Amino acid sequence: MAENSNNKTEKIISLCKRRGFVYPASEIYGGFANAFDYGPLGSQLKLNLKNEWWKRFVVERDDIVGMDSAIIQNPKVWEASGHIGSFTDPLVECKKCHKRFREDHVQEIKAKFNTDANAETGSRIKSGMTDGEKEMLVCASGGEHDFAEAKNFNLMFKTFIGVTEDSTSTAYLRPETAQGMFINFLNVTQSSRVKIPFGIGQIGKAFRNEITPGNFTFRTREFEQAEIEYFVEPSLDESKKWFTYWLARWKEFFTDFGIRDENLTIRAHDKSELSHYSAGTSDIEYDFPFGMSELAGVAQRTKFDLEQHSKHSGIDQKYFDEVNGKKYIPYVVEPTMGVDRAMLAFLVDAYDESDGKDGREIGEVTLRLHPKLAPIKVAVFPLMKKEGMPELAHDIIADLRQAGIATFYDESGSIGRRYRRQDEIGTPFCLTVDFDSAKDKSVTVRDRDTMKQERIKIAELKKYFVEKNI
Ligand code: ATP
Repeated sequence: MAENSNNKTEKIISLCKRRGFVYPASEIYGGFANAFDYGPLGSQLKLNLKNEWWKRFVVERDDIVGMDSAIIQNPKVWEASGHIGSFTDPLVECKKCHKRFREDHVQEIKAKFNTDANAETGSRIKSGMTDGEKEMLVCASGGEHDFAEAKNFNLMFKTFIGVTEDSTSTAYLRPETAQGMFINFLNVTQSSRVKIPFGIGQIGKAFRNEITPGNFTFRTREFEQAEIEYFVEPSLDESKKWFTYWLARWKEFFTDFGIRDENLTIRAHDKSELSHYSAGTSDIEYDFPFGMSELAGVAQRTKFDLEQHSKHSGIDQKYFDEVNGKKYIPYVVEPTMGVDRAMLAFLVDAYDESDGKDGREIGEVTLRLHPKLAPIKVAVFPLMKKEGMPELAHDIIADLRQAGIATFYDESGSIGRRYRRQDEIGTPFCLTVDFDSAKDKSVTVRDRDTMKQERIKIAELKKYFVEKNI
């Protein structure tokens, strides 16, 4: 990654806040660590991203159907999937302040600063400690932490269903969307005439009580996933074939919507990293300003999940393959991506500061978002607030909106300033109504990337923008 990479992250975070892409959550109450709210532009960008994903992988394919499963399922789902048994880290909890820390982290800090367990609280704080390190040694309610015995901490968020709060009413927020598709495997095969190979796609929230969230929206406790469970004949050869296929389609999704190929890497998991069910997993990593990190992945989940659900539910999850006259539990290939991570990668890749050679001032920011992702497609400006220009601009907006084109009206400041405001949020086209527009029934359209301007007939605008693939 280029020099000043931390600086770049800071600039993107600041742009996101200032222009309404992403805000820190619960800000008026002092914030809520590592949680974020998407603002007017961010929510639209995220929706555009999800819509393009859904269109490409569900709507435009014969072999994939969509679904939208419940976030809170019967806890038996998570027993069967292995999330209740595994998915853990050993944690200690303070009985007074109820803060939890990873036990090994507390021990590391104690060893690092040589603070023994019986030392006076005051003397425990040493110079050079970070706030996080101090927090691990000193209780917020005063004095030392009073840690209960270490427990394996499950990363799933727990909640209670109904009025009693005990083990019989415990339920979990889903830590992945995948299981919602596995537990509906029979429903889908019985209701939608799909034939193997076929997939189920889903976009939805997942929740993980991550111990080390961070890097803006890269790792949060509440996030969205877009996943496909693709069911194939039960052989490693078939699984491998579809794995290769999906890895290519998955990467293509990112490059087609603007991420530069050189910023993506495919990294195969080595044996020690593989999940217990996986016969092979590869991550697609992106060169984030904070380092090469997982953006998406494709895993060969074999028949693990459906077999587990057969065992735990007592309902046979076999599929009858009419073509081969065989009954079997299919193998599964799972392409998955984090929507928030994808959005962050699209933002980072699109962020461009001018070097002054493209007609912009040095340091001016253009967000070179793919037009399909851009939250606003066309900004409409009257050159002046007179001679019917605002009225004509509003008529054009009404017309474009009818065609489903997201527009934005701006009449304040010079045209140059208005262009800059739109470049910074990634609007691909700006349209200016001027003194001649009423007479020649035309407007000037300026392209964000080439900065070229064209005179276009008002009657031709919709066709023009459709051809621009917005
Ligand atoms: P990581 O190794 O980063 O913890 P993972 O391998 O556990 O991720 P998966 O279980 O494969 O992730 O989840 C699928 C996708 O969901 C990931 O590729 C990632 O894009 C996204 N994702 C996972 N955890 C988070 C999180 N805490 N915040 C945001 N996105 C996440």
